[in-house]
Amino acid sequence: MARKSDTVSLFINDVPVKIHRGASIMEAAHKAKVDIPHLCNHRHLTPTGACRLCVVELEGEGPGRPLIAACARPAESGMRVLTHTDRAVAARRLVLELLLSDHPGDCLTCEQSGHCKLQDLAYEYQVADSRFRGRRNRYPIDTANPFIVRDFEKCVKCYRCAQACQELQFCEVIDYMGRGFDTMVTSALNRPLPETECVQCGRCVSVCPVGALTEKPSRYRGRSKDLKKTVTTCPYCGVGCAIVLETDGQHIVRVTSREDSPVNKGDLCVKGRFGYGFVNSPDRLITPLIRKDGELVPASWNEAIAAVAAGLKRTKQEYGADAIGFLSSSKCTNEENYLMQKFARAGVGTNNIDNCARL
Ligand code: SF4
Ligand code: SF4
Ligand code: SF4
Repeated sequence: MARKSDTVSLFINDVPVKIHRGASIMEAAHKAKVDIPHLCNHRHLTPTGACRLCVVELEGEGPGRPLIAACARPAESGMRVLTHTDRAVAARRLVLELLLSDHPGDCLTCEQSGHCKLQDLAYEYQVADSRFRGRRNRYPIDTANPFIVRDFEKCVKCYRCAQACQELQFCEVIDYMGRGFDTMVTSALNRPLPETECVQCGRCVSVCPVGALTEKPSRYRGRSKDLKKTVTTCPYCGVGCAIVLETDGQHIVRVTSREDSPVNKGDLCVKGRFGYGFVNSPDRLITPLIRKDGELVPASWNEAIAAVAAGLKRTKQEYGADAIGFLSSSKCTNEENYLMQKFARAGVGTNNIDNCARL
């Protein structure tokens, strides 16, 4: 029996593309550099077809055929996909109108403005208002969590947050509750996040395409679009997650991550995402401290180095080199950590070394 090919070949708006079998039409379009709009689809989450913005047509299927969701339908050999037909565009505009009919639209003060997929799509499809007037969902803004602000009046029911919690973080803290218009994201028994198993990783925030979930510590301290982005590595442990520092020139305003990082694929723990306050903390040490008469008092570097040298010498003479241990930090550079172990082994003569990055 002939073996099925591992790839399929199709056309996206006349652009030929070959992609692995099982890939979606959305992935094929991405490969062909054709943008198909979406709110719910995310590269690391199972496609749900929830938002219906990615609807496309297949050439030759005739006017009576339903539009298909490009994120959920696998690409097939011979398909000729049309992404921006009049029907597809009209359907997207209708979806956007329906979303805006139940949306506060306070872009002027919204944290997400300039970085919001709904705002971008409303602009691209020129949907400024909605024909549909009627009931609106009203929810108080939830600020009970120290790290996450939840403003569910802005929720577009894309389900990304719940999927991220379940599929990426494996915490299963949040899910949908209710049906139809009353559907909302919630936790078990509708408890506030601090009273759940939530580990405050912020992954739900990072995938939210609108301003429904935002970081609390950076609230009103600068919009993402206005901040400088610096890609670096999280200083907390040895996993080495890629982080993006968003800074205003003086301070770190926000920490995000990169979905394409080979190490963490956009995931961060609570320390990596929210534990950056130490950088600008007024409590940081700015001089060495030496204990005198039981009190830690500020000292010069020369005094501190002399005190350490004397202490090491005395301990080694009295108890031997293995009575001494050295601890270093992943907040130091690799070179500094290397020097620390070199000094311990070659200088002092002990292998008692450790580093917090080992964990
Ligand atoms: S979520 Fe987006 S569209 Fe809604 S108010 Fe904020 S910026 Fe505007
Ligand atoms: S912060 Fe993390 S654990 Fe908590 S709800 Fe969001 S994804 Fe789930
Ligand atoms: S809170 Fe954000 S991520 Fe979650 S369903 Fe609503 S819009 Fe989507």
